Amino acid sequence: MKKLLIAGNWKMFKTISEGVQLVNIIKAGLHRITTCDIAICPPFTALSAINEALRDTKMELGAQDMYCETEGAFTGEISPLMLKDAGCRYVILGHSERRQLFHETNELIHRKIATALKYNLSPIVCVGETLEQREARQAFEVVKNQFDHCLGSLNADEIDRVVLAYEPVWAIGTGKTATPEQAEQMHSYLRRLLNEKYGNLVAGRIKILYGGSVKPSNSAQLMSKPNLNGALVGGASLKAESFIQIVTNACEQTFSGSSKS
Ligand code: PEP
Repeated sequence: MKKLLIAGNWKMFKTISEGVQLVNIIKAGLHRITTCDIAICPPFTALSAINEALRDTKMELGAQDMYCETEGAFTGEISPLMLKDAGCRYVILGHSERRQLFHETNELIHRKIATALKYNLSPIVCVGETLEQREARQAFEVVKNQFDHCLGSLNADEIDRVVLAYEPVWAIGTGKTATPEQAEQMHSYLRRLLNEKYGNLVAGRIKILYGGSVKPSNSAQLMSKPNLNGALVGGASLKAESFIQIVTNACEQTFSGSSKS
């Protein structure tokens, strides 16, 4: 059975000391958890300190973005080597806030994914449609386009190290959540795309997370769906009790959910 992965995206919140304080409470609340994978993605400035705080745990560290070059004259950017050096295993790429606010294209995201893989970082690649696109019944087309252009040229070995995250833009930070059925519909579509390209075995191994206003009150229902392999959690990952509860719900799901392979 695939372990569920719960990743907390702290976005542009938490100073170093606030982050360490938060992670220490999360550690205490989750010290017995072994049945699901956990990743904490703080801002760049807190990566090293959080890495240190996570040292005696199974929780992993992730970054929220990176540039697609190893080093060079790219003022303000951060490289995969630097993320590895800070202790990261994961890096979130193609988040809708990067796409919308910083005009990141599928082409750039693809280059970032390829570079992350080259340096042995697992990219958590976000795809998802806006409300207008969903209302115009274009959700599947939009997600397929992002999938094709961001991941299209990866081989089976590379895609195996990718985590996908379906994050409908209309559900991010809005309090609106996709219903478990809506989420499952898109996740099974993504699984089908993976299957067509890489075959059953590889497609079955890839984790597809759901993100968009996941909270303790809706996480168990979402995670019960067969093609949901975890969650990318924004707002609720900033509060220790909510994050602990979401992870605890996911672990219970792993214990009882025999339908997931
Ligand atoms: C996110 O930023 O990836 C996210 C899903 O945010 P929220 O949980 O706050 O909707």
